[in-house]
Amino acid sequence: MRHKILVTGGAGYIGSHTTLALLEADYDVIVLDNLSNSSKASLERVGDIAGRKPLFIEGDLRDAALVNQIFKDHPIESVLHFAALKSVEESVREPLRYFENNLFSTMTLCQAMASANVFNLVFSSSAVVYGTPSIVPIAENHPVGQTTNPYGRSKFMIEQMLTDLAHSDPRWKIAILRYFNPVGAHASGRIGEDPNGIPNNLLPYICRVAVGTLTELKIFGNDYPTIDGTGVRDYIHVLDLANGHLSALDAIRKNSGTHIWNLGTGQGHSVLEVVKAFEAISDRPIPYKIAPRRAGDVAACFANVSKAERELGWKATYTLNEMLRDAWKWQSTNPLGYK
Ligand code: NAD
Ligand code: UDP
Repeated sequence: MRHKILVTGGAGYIGSHTTLALLEADYDVIVLDNLSNSSKASLERVGDIAGRKPLFIEGDLRDAALVNQIFKDHPIESVLHFAALKSVEESVREPLRYFENNLFSTMTLCQAMASANVFNLVFSSSAVVYGTPSIVPIAENHPVGQTTNPYGRSKFMIEQMLTDLAHSDPRWKIAILRYFNPVGAHASGRIGEDPNGIPNNLLPYICRVAVGTLTELKIFGNDYPTIDGTGVRDYIHVLDLANGHLSALDAIRKNSGTHIWNLGTGQGHSVLEVVKAFEAISDRPIPYKIAPRRAGDVAACFANVSKAERELGWKATYTLNEMLRDAWKWQSTNPLGYK
């Protein structure tokens, strides 16, 4: 019988790519998603690509009765927990909604898991927990918690909660994955990132300028102490990230406790490097203007990935050009996303 996995937030950007990777690796997948920031079309397309569908349950992770019932109805062995609200900017305006959704859904999930004797959990954290890094590349033992916004604090609080939980009961096997900057899409161009409204993140914004739905990119600051003055980030292909989850799942099943791994490439790229590389790949101009720095942004943020390489036997494989090529294929063949 196949290993059955519950994927929360599996209709979203990273969850849908990971659901596909799980199906391709012969897992059975149940997705729970309230579609607050996604479309179930993503999962239909995942089913088409894999030749096998995940079971989709539309519902909210904060609904304890529903979540308990899912564990009663299905012999779930492990959970990948992606469901969360994720906009930094929105979290500053609506902190309670962020704390309520992100914390309460994780508590409801962990309670239901413990009641059902399911203890394998992979949690989507973020490099945002490092706040303004005092040193780059950033290793997992870099201080955490000096986060600059409620979204980041919700991730930090959940990390602490999961760590306490694993201390309280040695049956818990928990992976905390700190993602750097996920970009790109499945090479088929059929699934990808489809943010609501005007994107906050660099690559979705560039993609919309390239298809003409936005007119120009604002580059937030060109006076940082970086190679060309623009911000440097560690962009990682979403397919590498998806594979990182499979490796983390294998690793925790052999080891109890909480384990933290950075998932990045270890390479930093500036905003201008990304813009130039994207123009070359898409053969479209990306008009831009230099704007003031964005509040809360840091100059450079990239990962030390040696712990993940050593302990998971996992390494990112896609180059920046491949990430941009796949993002562009998705955007150019689906200019309106899943709509
Ligand atoms: P996404 O918004 O595309 O996916 C999140 C999914 O969770 C959505 O489908 C949404 O509908 C669902 N969801 C939210 N609250 C829910 C709830 N209460 N009940 C059920 N479903 C709910 O985001 P993503 O980019 O795929 O991110 C996935 C995870 O990775 C999130 O936890 C996010 O914080 C984390 N993360 C993302 C990034 C990034 O840049 N994309 C970086 C670091 C960490
Ligand atoms: N950025 C930018 N213009 C935009 C969006 C982002 O110049 O419209 C810059 C941002 O200042 C940062 C980099 O692009 O240096 C990556 O930003 P993103 O929001 O994608 O990721 P994060 O800042 O969360 O790492």
